[in-house]
Amino acid sequence: MRRVRQPKKSSRPPLRLRMVVLGVQGSGKGTQAELVARRFGLAHISTGEIFRREISRRTALGRRAERYLMAGKLVPDAVTNAIVGKHLRFGRARTHGFVLDGYPRNRAQLTALERATPVTHAIQILLPDRVAVQRISGRLNCACGLSYHVQYHPPRRRGICDRCGRKLFVRDDDQPATIRKRIRIYHRQTAPLLAYYRKRGVLLQVDGRPAIAAVFRRVLTQLRRSMATP
Ligand code: ADP
Ligand code: ZN
Repeated sequence: MRRVRQPKKSSRPPLRLRMVVLGVQGSGKGTQAELVARRFGLAHISTGEIFRREISRRTALGRRAERYLMAGKLVPDAVTNAIVGKHLRFGRARTHGFVLDGYPRNRAQLTALERATPVTHAIQILLPDRVAVQRISGRLNCACGLSYHVQYHPPRRRGICDRCGRKLFVRDDDQPATIRKRIRIYHRQTAPLLAYYRKRGVLLQVDGRPAIAAVFRRVLTQLRRSMATP
């Protein structure tokens, strides 16, 4: 029997699930992205986390990104697109797929992503701004990337990460004025991307108000439903 020749390797990675999670700051998109990634064995790529890690390591990228994060502004697209592109081409993202969290955040980023590797699902976590601000005000973070909330999602030991045991901290950009600015940018620049994903037929919407586990169950239900219908 003749072996069929393998087609030439395409530059696009052979991914199965390629998702983005969208939602206003505090909607729980990072938490849901992490849960979805773990459930399906995908890479969880959070641009905010990448930037914070680079800043704490004082790398060249970190030094470039720092002032934007502190001001609640978007890091320039050229920088962000390059770093995300790099993460998509390696490791689990390449072999199994990915969940993007915090990207794309505007038109230019959406275009870059669609060119690199179009997503199979866009999950929007819905939450009113008022609730979002309340939630961010109680947010606690860990250097390992997990986040908690003093009231809604407290760690088992006060101030200590369940996963890695490190001390939790409040993000510098989680100050009220900066939070409001980030939410404004979300409505102006990120929310318009939802219409695009809806038109492409990949948008799933989930109410972000219930508890974390309940939101996750709904995310899974929606995902299963979308996978059953081609
Ligand atoms: P939040 O969604 O609560 O704003 P993130 O951790 O996603 O938190 O982002 C924190 C900060 O990192 C943003 O305010 C911005 O400065 C920077 N950042 C994250 N993602 C992007 C992106 N896609 N483009 C530009 N800047 C970004
Ligand atoms: Zn941790």
